[in-house]
Amino acid sequence: MSSKGSMNESRRSFLKLAAGTAAVAAVAGILPRVARAGGLPHLSPSDPTAKALGYVEDHTKTKNPAYKPGADCSNCLFYEGKAGEAWGPCKIFPGKDVAAKGWCVSHQNKA
Ligand code: SF4
Repeated sequence: MSSKGSMNESRRSFLKLAAGTAAVAAVAGILPRVARAGGLPHLSPSDPTAKALGYVEDHTKTKNPAYKPGADCSNCLFYEGKAGEAWGPCKIFPGKDVAAKGWCVSHQNKA
């Protein structure tokens, strides 16, 4: 009898844990959407990947020989920001916003 009681107890604990995990997963699923609505954290030019790709927040400040006049994030194929907004997501840097006036060596002109 007592072993059945303890089995029920562990089953209850498991169910509680499972319910808690589901709740956390549900919240985690909602959070990125909330963060996106309010803008993502800005990509830091000192981020290792940003540095490797020569990212700058102001395209006029780059000394990179790959820079082509007129190029910036707002006219890049990988930029997903809205027109007129100062920052927006970039496919190359998931989870971060880049400056519309920024630039990096991965720049590709929008078709
Ligand atoms: S890939 Fe394009 S949008 Fe992304 S940081 Fe580089 S230039 Fe900007």
